[in-house]
This record gives sequence, C-alpha cells and structure tokens, in this order.
Amino acid sequence: MATTKRDLYEVLSLSRSASGDEIKSAYRKAALRWHPDRNPDNKHEAEEKFREATEAYSVLSDAQKRQIYDTYGHAGLSSATGGPGFPPVDFSVFEGLQDILGDFFQVDDVFGFSGGTRRGRGSRRAQRGADLRYDVTLSFEEAAAGKKLRIRIPRAEMCDACSGSGAKPGTSPVTCNMCEGRGQVRHQQSFLVIARTCPQCQGSGRVLRDPCSACRGAGRVERERSLEVEIPAGVETGMRVRLPGEGEAGSNGGPRGDLYVLVEVRDHPFFERKGSDLFCTIPITISQAALGAEIRVPTMGSEEKLKIPDGTQSGHVFRLKGKGLPSPHGHGKGDLHVRVRVVIPEKLTREQKRLLEELAATFDQDNRPAQRNSSLFEKVKDIFG
Ligand SMILES: [Zn+2]
Ligand SMILES: [Zn+2]
Repeated sequence: MATTKRDLYEVLSLSRSASGDEIKSAYRKAALRWHPDRNPDNKHEAEEKFREATEAYSVLSDAQKRQIYDTYGHAGLSSATGGPGFPPVDFSVFEGLQDILGDFFQVDDVFGFSGGTRRGRGSRRAQRGADLRYDVTLSFEEAAAGKKLRIRIPRAEMCDACSGSGAKPGTSPVTCNMCEGRGQVRHQQSFLVIARTCPQCQGSGRVLRDPCSACRGAGRVERERSLEVEIPAGVETGMRVRLPGEGEAGSNGGPRGDLYVLVEVRDHPFFERKGSDLFCTIPITISQAALGAEIRVPTMGSEEKLKIPDGTQSGHVFRLKGKGLPSPHGHGKGDLHVRVRVVIPEKLTREQKRLLEELAATFDQDNRPAQRNSSLFEKVKDIFG
C-alpha cells in the first residue's frame, strides 16, 4: 500500500491525551456515522472510513499498541508485526463492539454474524440450565417459626429416551456437512472476513437426522417435580431461599440452574418488625402509669411479664431482650420493643369524677410550655420511625 497513513488520533478527532472512554466514544460516533448500511449512496467511501476508524480504534484502545504508536508512529506498529505497511486489524476488537454500538444496532448486523455467535466460537457449548423462581406467602407466625414446604414446579429435565442427545434412540447426530463439523463458516463481507456460526447446525457441528420423538430433538422435556423446601425461621418479605441445582436441566451436558424460593410475609395484627426486632404498642391506664403495675405482654407464641415502674410516661418504650424474632442467618434473636400508651378515660362515672377532682386539688398546676426536645418524645420517634 502506497497511500500515506493518517494520524490515528486525527482519524477519530481525538487529542493525544484522550482517555479510554473518549476513545471508545469517538469510535462509536465514527462507526455509527460510517456504517455501510447507513450510507447506501457512498458505500465505498463509508467502508473506507469505517475501516480506518476501526483500525485506529484497534490500536488506541489497546494500551500496549497505543504506546508503540505514540513512540514510533505507524512505523513502530508495522515493525512490531514484522510486515510492511499497516498491521492487520486485530479482530478481537470486535468482541467489545456490542457494548459500544449495541444501543443502535446489533454488531451482528454490521459484521454479518448470526445471533449469539460472538461467544459461541464453534464447538457445541455446554449451557447451564435456567434458574427458576417460586413465590411463597407465609403468615407472620410461619415466618417467625420457619416452615417446611412441599412445592411442585414444572421444569425442563433431561430427556430419558435419548439421554439428552436429541437423536432418536439407536441413532446419533451426524456431522454437519455445511461446516464439516467445525460449527462455523467463513463469511466475506466487504473488507472483512468473519467466521460466523454455521446456520445449519447452530454451531454444534452436528445435525440430527432422526430427532428423538419424545423431546422432538430438544434433548429436554418439561416435567413437574415435587420438592421439599426448608424456609428458615425469621425470614422477611423479599428474602430468597436458594436451592442449588434445582433449576432447569442444562443442555449439552451443562450444569443445572438453581431454584430460588421468594418469600412474602403477611402483616401481623399488632406486631411490626424491623429485621429481627419486634414492635408493639400496649395501652395502660393512668393509674397503672402513675402507680406502677405488672402487665402481661404477648410475644411470638407466648407471653411475658413486664414491670411498669410508677411514674411511667405515655410513649415510653420497654425493651425485652431476645424476645424478638430469630435471625434467618443464625445470628441469635432480636428484641421486643413495647411502647406503652397511657389511655386517658373519655367517660367517667360520677364516683371516678369525684375522686379525680379530689386528686386534682392536691396537684400544683403548672402549664408553662415544656422545653423543646426535652421530652422522650424525640427518642421514641426514632425507634418507632
Ligand atoms: Zn429425547
Ligand atoms: Zn454446521
């Protein structure tokens, strides 16, 4: 080639200090602009520009090549590869193109790949089976105590009739004649020679002459399976229990996927929870608050005695250590937070009214505003959110 090479930075309109992201972005812009399909009227020029931009990108996106180019220019690159002129475009650069151009069109379109082939170089690849999800709803109590469940899930299993090969029992798949078993064919598109997945065998290198009738050649069939799942005590809504290897069967000898059981927990009539801590509110009378009392508070599945000291204020929170929920990860138990609410009677008997009036006469009445933030109201608000 006798033509003079343009400066690679100039090709992509970049400064010599351009960052990796800038290089990527400049190439993306150039590739989109000069994509041959987008320039049907000057295809030849577009191809030339596209190629030029790709060459520039293949060098500048590679730290080592970029350094050689920065130091020695084009000459450095040609002597590095030993050949005259410009080194051949390194096509591994296209592996990353989908990331760069993917929003606009499939790289497959540009380079004549067929779907999914960039990864599947040739041989029939073992593929992991899909993960499955199963949703369960538990009552608050079930979640607190943990539960063993039996669930039925339909999933893909290896076909017994053909042991997963997809070929009719007694026959086996034959070598694909289009690619001679290589799984890929060479494809020339304008200036590029690209190996693409064989369209006849989809890259497996083999074709089924007689497909298995049980699975129609898929090698897998759908079956319903019954499984036992152990939900640990203390689970919360949104938690997942993973059952490794209980997803769908893989293909071509690939491993099975996993099964995820997604938990939803119903609300409780009076308990709320935050992680493993439980919260509830219990009403007490004015006399219990003033004189002190011993009350019973419900816990998960039982009850506890709680001593209310005299002079307890409405809103005060008592913490019962270890009376919350178990941690589903086995880190002990949470606490139970009991907030007391002093209930002011709305209706009084004549006798109660008389007694209260008698009591009232003994109090100093001081109704000046309280100091801001001095009450325990703030503290309580934090805990109960
Ligand atoms: Zn079969
Ligand atoms: Zn083939």
